[in-house]
Amino acid sequence: TTTNLRLRDDLERRVADRTQELRDLTAEHQRLDAMKREFVSAVSHELRTPLTAIRGSLELLADGDAGELPAPARPVVEMATRGSERLSRLVDDIIDLERLESGEFGFRPAPHDLLPLLADAVGSLDALAREAGVEVRIAACPARVVCDGDRVTQALVNLVGNALKFTPPGGTVTIDARRTEEGLRVSVSDTGRGIPPGELEAVFDRFHQVEPDDARQQSGTGLGLSITRRIVEANGGRVWAESEVGVGSTFYFTLPLEDDGPAAGSVAGPVP
Ligand code: ADP
Repeated sequence: TTTNLRLRDDLERRVADRTQELRDLTAEHQRLDAMKREFVSAVSHELRTPLTAIRGSLELLADGDAGELPAPARPVVEMATRGSERLSRLVDDIIDLERLESGEFGFRPAPHDLLPLLADAVGSLDALAREAGVEVRIAACPARVVCDGDRVTQALVNLVGNALKFTPPGGTVTIDARRTEEGLRVSVSDTGRGIPPGELEAVFDRFHQVEPDDARQQSGTGLGLSITRRIVEANGGRVWAESEVGVGSTFYFTLPLEDDGPAAGSVAGPVP
């Protein structure tokens, strides 16, 4: 009937209007998001030069190149140095994250042996491990993965670094790898304080900390896991965490295996 037709027309028009509204909102949201990212990135880049000058000047003071420092001034210079180093790490992490999110990083995937990647990451954390009194074990078997080696090392350094930071002396951090249907699944397990179940997803959010003072106490930036997630996803993998409070945490991520071919994850090999 005519009434029915009119009703249908009306309904269709309303659906079309709502769809357009949603489209406009999404576009607006994306525009604001891009503006925010550009602003943060511009500020971060602007901060780099003065920060370099501050750190250079503090180094001159600490080394006595600007005259011998009176004893009471030394701890003051040390405190300023630590603060400027922390600020530099934060600025570098913000810039890294922004480059990852805007796709500006230009990933260079290539076949890599897994074990040297792991050894590189662990080697760069030797001093931190010794200081923490925590043993780092590599239990993984040889495998060939396809990834951007430098970026994956960065992700591994973040995960192993966290494991060391949140594990008391005498504990162990174990890095393992297994072939799964999704490709190679790498795990970083610790015997640390653990993460409450409700926080397992949120720890990957920017600046999210389980304890309010975690970043400062552990000289972190609160951006490590966000960066790690972006790197893993850009490599075609995923990252997640499992944990038991007071027992320890395990962070997992997947990487395409070389022998899985371009459509990574389709062939599962035997567990070595
Ligand atoms: P941060 O620079 O603070 O380490 P991250 O993004 O790397 O930033 O980690 C976010 C938060 O997740 C940490 O501040 C900490 O509260 C928690 N966290 C990360 N890894 C672990 C871990 N292995 N054990 C316990 N808590 C962890």
